[in-house]
Amino acid sequence: MAYTPFDLTGKVALVTGGNGGIGLGMAEALAQAGADVAIWGTNPAKNAAARARLEATGRRILALECDVGEEDQVEAAFAETVRVLGRVDGCFANAGISGGRSSPFLERTKEQWDRVLRVNLTGAFLTFRAAAQHMKARADAGDKGGVLVGTASLAAIEGAARNEHYGASKGGMVSMVRALAVELARHGIRAHSILPGWIETDMTARSVADPKFAGNVLPRVPMRRWGNGGDFGGMAIYLMSSASAFHTGDTLVIDGGYSLF
Ligand code: NDP
Repeated sequence: MAYTPFDLTGKVALVTGGNGGIGLGMAEALAQAGADVAIWGTNPAKNAAARARLEATGRRILALECDVGEEDQVEAAFAETVRVLGRVDGCFANAGISGGRSSPFLERTKEQWDRVLRVNLTGAFLTFRAAAQHMKARADAGDKGGVLVGTASLAAIEGAARNEHYGASKGGMVSMVRALAVELARHGIRAHSILPGWIETDMTARSVADPKFAGNVLPRVPMRRWGNGGDFGGMAIYLMSSASAFHTGDTLVIDGGYSLF
């Protein structure tokens, strides 16, 4: 008999930051595997372009404007996602911003700190809370199962010098996800963090285009290339599929071997 756990037909994925590099790579693979997909982002033009690309898969696609740092916007967007697509089985809290130009901790302003924490950590909290409430209500009604996946960063576990506010936002996400994996397992909800290494997206475009930066970093990547959004597709499918039914609380490093060096 054929082994078909990776067929996601009938399932719905929500990917915040789904109009960007890593999020769009996950969203496209999930749709190609059969899932209907909602993406959230703040930029209407990027949302429209991503929606057009995702609609080529033939799945139902919803693109919503939502600032994940704003509680009322997250609540409204989640309700709209469920109203239109019917349910959420996989919630990928992937929206994030960089810490900006790296700078000394002794000069860190509260504004810089708050700006990053609001999107990267509070945004993931608000998104996960809405999804977990929905998944628990479904479990109570006899329809158990769901996965929460946060896009953290290697910065969560390395010494992210001069970028500690970004590292703290991602370390906080890893810690939150581990707690959710323990607390929500009895409702059939699993939770994971992804730790990408150097991925070529809008967020890193300036760095990877800088020959000096590339000359320093690429030799430390055993696979000798930057990652791309498509590198996250198979993992997203696996985490939403029944193949990962007993897998929870993990931190999945996708970095071409960079962290092994
Ligand atoms: P992109 O800049 O391509 O994507 C970022 C996404 O987040 C965009 O879709 C953007 O949409 C969305 N976003 C930003 N702010 C908000 C907000 N307030 N509310 C809703 N959506 C928002 O970068 P990546 O694809 O690289 O980033 C995706 C995730 O991966 C981030 O969390 C990032 O921290 C993480 N990461 C990236 C790495 C890399 O090397 N690229 C390495 C490690 C982690 P919009 O512009 O429409 O708001």
